[in-house]
Amino acid sequence: MVSWFFQHRCSVNGVVSYERNLQARQQCIKYHGVKYVVCDFDFLREYGTIRQDYIQVHHLIPIHENGKTYEVNPVTDIVPLCPNCHAMIHREKDTLTIEELKQHYANAQTSKRL
Ligand SMILES: [Zn+2]
Ligand SMILES: [Zn+2]
Repeated sequence: MVSWFFQHRCSVNGVVSYERNLQARQQCIKYHGVKYVVCDFDFLREYGTIRQDYIQVHHLIPIHENGKTYEVNPVTDIVPLCPNCHAMIHREKDTLTIEELKQHYANAQTSKRL
């Protein structure tokens, strides 16, 4: 498994910044598809066009030291999230897991239908 070195650019103190390593980002997107792991918001379907910078990647392994370089596997360590989900996952002081965010999302969808 090939891995890439890049700086962690996820959330520091609740501020979400963009992943700057395009290679790892693109590998992540290539593997996971232009599809978010939590919501099914589909930029292609909604807008007919997609700019890749609307896709944000989230690090599954929480890393807090700012500015350090890590070896990250773009398939298992980072996931594509839409900007909304990415903001939500970092809203709490402790970053939510993907499963927790999925649960929140599923609950919200259910109550919307009631
Ligand atoms: Zn993140
Ligand atoms: Zn989303």
